[in-house]
Amino acid sequence: MMLITGGRLLDPNSYTFIPGELVIEGDTIVDIVAPDSVTREGKAIVDASDRLVIPGLVNGHNHAQTNLAKGLADRWTLESLLNQAPWTTGRRTLDDKYLSAAIGACEMLRKGCTASFDMFAEFPLPSIDGVTAVAQAYKDVGIRATIAPMMADRSFYEAIPGLLDALPAPLRAQALAIRFSPHAQSVAVCRELMQGWRFDRSQIKLALGPTIPHHCSDEFLIGCRDLGLELDAGFQMHVAESKMQAIVALKKYGKTLVAHLDTLGLLKPGFCVAHGVWLDDEDRSRLADHGCSVSHNPGSNMKLGSGLADTRAMLARGINLALGTDGAGSSDNLNMFEAMRLATMVSRVRGRDPDQWLSATDALRAATEGGAQALGFGGTIGRLAKGCKADVVLLDLGVPHYVPLNDPVNQIVHCEDGTGVHTVIVGGRVLLQDRRFVEFDFDALRVKAAAAVERLREANRESRVLCEKLEPHVSQYCSGLAATPYHVAGFCQH
Ligand SMILES: [Zn+2]
Repeated sequence: MMLITGGRLLDPNSYTFIPGELVIEGDTIVDIVAPDSVTREGKAIVDASDRLVIPGLVNGHNHAQTNLAKGLADRWTLESLLNQAPWTTGRRTLDDKYLSAAIGACEMLRKGCTASFDMFAEFPLPSIDGVTAVAQAYKDVGIRATIAPMMADRSFYEAIPGLLDALPAPLRAQALAIRFSPHAQSVAVCRELMQGWRFDRSQIKLALGPTIPHHCSDEFLIGCRDLGLELDAGFQMHVAESKMQAIVALKKYGKTLVAHLDTLGLLKPGFCVAHGVWLDDEDRSRLADHGCSVSHNPGSNMKLGSGLADTRAMLARGINLALGTDGAGSSDNLNMFEAMRLATMVSRVRGRDPDQWLSATDALRAATEGGAQALGFGGTIGRLAKGCKADVVLLDLGVPHYVPLNDPVNQIVHCEDGTGVHTVIVGGRVLLQDRRFVEFDFDALRVKAAAAVERLREANRESRVLCEKLEPHVSQYCSGLAATPYHVAGFCQH
């Protein structure tokens, strides 16, 4: 048994801090007691005096394959990012896939995040070995994950109406040669993965990740829907992330992306929209009525210039709100404290009255309980409560951003940058202590990462040349599409 003593605990009902002790047995919080009220005998003691004790943060949207690509992009839109993906994430060996996932898991653990919704991508289709390598990385580092293999049966170039025709002929042929596998193969791999899953599902589980609606044929989406229903799997999809996507939906389906997914029967509890920047009132109603979640990823949305999601409207309509970083290829860092801070900031620049802004408590709830629900771990993580898993973060009150301590929740959201994370416990195991990894050899990853990026730079040289030739054409065409006026009832974009 373990006893976390002397700290101030985040109360899951009032979202205030109260003195108390956590009693942990195995991987579970079995009791929360008043200070010095239970015997210490026979218990491992974790001293939390001078600490704030919060549940581990939950990252609602991420991509394991992009951790080896962090820092490559600067002034890229989402469409540029997708165009450059063949070289930024291409030619990965199985070891690279493990390595990339492990680097991300370490960064999250180091910054107080203990669970992640990971849309891990492999080209041209997911593989049993690749997804297993990513799951193994999460297991070895020790944090939880819901892994949704990211899939498509249309390439980026095929998915955007008119884009191929806008490319010069020689480049068009090369773009056409970039092909994803037929959808039946991807669905078959997911079925095999789910049926043979050898990881503890309370730590690492699988979901389905058809990436973007119009990158997937309707037959593919229906195949995923049916598999999800059969095997009770959650979903994550990028939906209405950029304005161009919202415009493509109207051109292609004559309705919004959310309306299209609703028509196909994909919306259900356990369905998580990544981004949801370009949603209208009706979209939000559909998502709320089906019990869906949205992972709001403000860092990525601003870095890629995608827009500002309306989280207040989502909450008002009853959508479960999670927060995420997105992959390191777009927003670069995996810092959930930054995601919380940016989420409150973004909600304040829409011209609304202050009582409509996201509060610090709204952001902290989204980054804990909201994320837990989005990942399919609702009620078991994201709260310091009896019966929940013992995923616990101790924040050091001795760092400057807590001096003086005026309002703990406000300071966690608006002052904490991850440097206050002192100790992280996942499922009752101390994985980070005094800011150091207890079990995992992070330094060994550094050496491997340096060698891997050197090799991958060479291996992807040709692919990079092609992507860079395509870039001005893609950029010009997509910017043109995005310049189309977008008027949908209830949509408001500043
Ligand atoms: Zn993403």
